[in-house]
Amino acid sequence: MDKSIIRFNHCDKDIFCCFVPDECPECGVRFSGKRLEEAPVSIPNPFSNGHKVPCAFLVAPTEDSVLRDFDGHSDLHTGVTNTNGVVYNYTRTGVHRDHQGWERCICIPLVQPDMFNLISQWDEYLEKFSSAQMWDPLWQSFHEETHNCYNYTLMFINCVLATQSKPALSKKEFTHTFVLPRIRRATKYMMLCREISQNHFYIMNSPRRNSQEAPSEEDDRIYST
Ligand SMILES: [Zn+2]
Repeated sequence: MDKSIIRFNHCDKDIFCCFVPDECPECGVRFSGKRLEEAPVSIPNPFSNGHKVPCAFLVAPTEDSVLRDFDGHSDLHTGVTNTNGVVYNYTRTGVHRDHQGWERCICIPLVQPDMFNLISQWDEYLEKFSSAQMWDPLWQSFHEETHNCYNYTLMFINCVLATQSKPALSKKEFTHTFVLPRIRRATKYMMLCREISQNHFYIMNSPRRNSQEAPSEEDDRIYST
């Protein structure tokens, strides 16, 4: 279910739902004719169509539990898009170039949009890297833990960092900085969807918000000038 979710605030509660009801589900006050103190805020859907996001790292969730347990070692499937949205991903049978199947995933754009030089070479880098000589010089075979889709994507990311004379990212660093925050948001969103589809609302105590919301990490790009 991917309806858009909104959040509004009433009687010190944050109320998540798909549309503003006639009355507050918590205190029962009728809203008819009255305006809410704060306009409802829409909660961005953390999933998008990976084939429409060029030069991105993709995480395809399979089930809730896989997302919840994700720690960089689990068998989540990951890939990298070229500039046309073809998803390069590594499986037991080698590197695949998928034109479909990644329509609902977490997309992490990697390149600042004005890095034209890098973008113009991206497809060539990705294709070259994916040929066995570079990614798999020893003809190692697929291994759940050590030679899997996550290693493939991270190694590609690091190869491109090297072309930019930037230091490599460790698996831990990459996972904690770029992947986990998005996974957490996606997990929360899936929980909201589930609650709303069962109970129409999800109600929680309003956390104290700073007047300025914390800046989103969405804008961080691994490749930036
Ligand atoms: Zn209320």
